[in-house]
Amino acid sequence: MPKFIGLIGYPLKHSISPYFQQAALDYYHLDIRYEAWETGPQKLEAIIAKLRESRKLGANVTVPHKEAVLPLLDGIDDLANLIGAVNTIVRRDDKLLGFNTDADGFLQALHKEGHFEPEGKRAVILGAGGVAKAVCFALVQEKASSLIIVNRTPARARALADSLRSYIAKIGLKTEVTTLSWQSLTSGGTFGRCHLIINCTTIGMKYSPQEGQSPLSLAVIPSGVLVYDLVYNPCPTPLLLVAEKAGANTLDGLAMLVYQGAASFELWTGREPPLDIMLKRAREVIGGER
Ligand code: NAP
Repeated sequence: MPKFIGLIGYPLKHSISPYFQQAALDYYHLDIRYEAWETGPQKLEAIIAKLRESRKLGANVTVPHKEAVLPLLDGIDDLANLIGAVNTIVRRDDKLLGFNTDADGFLQALHKEGHFEPEGKRAVILGAGGVAKAVCFALVQEKASSLIIVNRTPARARALADSLRSYIAKIGLKTEVTTLSWQSLTSGGTFGRCHLIINCTTIGMKYSPQEGQSPLSLAVIPSGVLVYDLVYNPCPTPLLLVAEKAGANTLDGLAMLVYQGAASFELWTGREPPLDIMLKRAREVIGGER
């Protein structure tokens, strides 16, 4: 009798996690199926309750449930608590435990695929939503020297900056955190001294209202900076194409997607994730092979 892991979110039509997670499970010949469980907000509580069944091992959680799921779980790991979002649920005996592997996936891809060491570096973060939070806490923990957060809705950027500053003060780190207006993205001065630019918005994402758009123009991107776009479909994104033309180094979001999924895989199965197989399958699916 197979066991099951699910992806909980809405909509899920374009998700590629089921493909590369199944490839990893099949690599180990595990009798486990990874399925997409498309779930609207009214059905969230019911689907979480079903995770307590003995044939369920856990789930990934994606937009729009990463925050709403917290009160439905029995325990939350420290990092997920700090970020305020859960993207992985593991059933251990009769307990549902919540984790956040986005921060780990972001850093693993940055180190291993981007060959970038954040300590002492200056970063500009576009966006202040769920994934931006994970990225900012990860960069603070890695001792980045400064973060500039730029978000369309200024109050959201300020709230994230405030929670980062409290955390920095509490643990005695020195990262400087500031916010800038969305309009400042049209000025080259915003990026003059930075080493890393990260797009944590949905701009450029396939099937979104901003499909085909780049949040930054060629003129503002300094050459030599690393531009990391967390949007993974299309791959490369319009931002990465512009960044290449500007002479910047680039890193796509597909690597992070696979690394965060690999960390979840390890939590569910206790096995070392077959990263090459997962990355290959993810690139095949994004390229149109299902
Ligand atoms: P979210 O919480 O909904 O946040 C969305 C962000 O995008 C907010 O900062 C929002 O600004 C901004 N935004 C949306 N439309 C905009 C527009 N037209 N102009 C300017 N800003 C706009 O979503 P999320 O979970 O953080 O995800 C953000 C992106 O990261 C998505 O594309 C997602 O696929 C990607 N992601 C990738 C990975 C990976 O592994 N590669 C993991 C997680 C997420 P406001 O605050 O003003 O609304």
